[in-house]
Amino acid sequence: MLTGKNVIVTGSTSGIGLGIAEVFAAAGCNMMFNGFGERAEIDKLVGGIAVTHKVKTAYSAADMSKPAEVAQLVRDTEVQFGSVDVLVNNAGIQFTAAVEDFPTEKWDAILAINLSAAFHAMKAAIPGMKARGYGRIINIASVHGLIASANKSAYVAAKHGLIGLTKAVALETAESGITVNAICPGWVLTPLVQKQIDDKAKLEGISIVEAQKKLLGEKEPTKRFTEPKHLGELAVFLCSEAGGNITGDAITADGGWTAQ
Ligand code: NAD
Repeated sequence: MLTGKNVIVTGSTSGIGLGIAEVFAAAGCNMMFNGFGERAEIDKLVGGIAVTHKVKTAYSAADMSKPAEVAQLVRDTEVQFGSVDVLVNNAGIQFTAAVEDFPTEKWDAILAINLSAAFHAMKAAIPGMKARGYGRIINIASVHGLIASANKSAYVAAKHGLIGLTKAVALETAESGITVNAICPGWVLTPLVQKQIDDKAKLEGISIVEAQKKLLGEKEPTKRFTEPKHLGELAVFLCSEAGGNITGDAITADGGWTAQ
């Protein structure tokens, strides 16, 4: 169904982005990887996925906090693969502190990477999508795009903004064969969340396992983490014919977190 489609997943060297990229590659898509990490490891990962799934893969080290590099990532993908058919804006960072203690540079970085990068990438990718009459844009937001938690002001603001941006661009592209949606995960066990588990264990003087259970218990009725590959399957569904009339939506995968 998606064989031969060209896909960018930003922040795909780790966690959710990597899980999504692997599912798209397994579906026969050519994959442009992006994100930070050790170059030799990234080359091994990206090369391995090409061999396993018999698709083309490439890697860009573009920094999503820099608008010109975001636009360049889109242009490089168009040059290397011929088009950008699917854009997954996933790169993101977290920092927790009360608003009065929140470092201004952390606020700026979270807004730049978690929100503005999606604007710059969509701005660069949509002209080509419109010209070809097909495009799928998936913005990885969060339950924190729908509701708040204390000590996450920048993250909550960025993710609420990302859902608003998703809706506005969905309306603008509604008759162009392009859909724009947000996925809103609850807890997913990635390095971004592991840091919060480690901090909680330290702060409360409990074990990592206890901290993990508490973290889930406080928010997610199912008391289970969502898996990156399942978010990948959801993203692939949004790119399918069955998902073709879903646009401007913010779809949760949060174990009932926002149902409460
Ligand atoms: P992660 O830390 O495992 O991965 C983040 C990825 O983004 C990495 O590949 C990293 O290199 C990349 N990245 C960070 N800054 C970058 C930059 N300036 N330029 C390019 N790449 C950059 O985190 P994750 O948990 O997989 O998070 C991925 C996305 O999912 C984020 O947008 C996050 O907000 C969102 N999310 C995560 C959870 C969760 O529970 N883990 C829940 C909801 C939403």
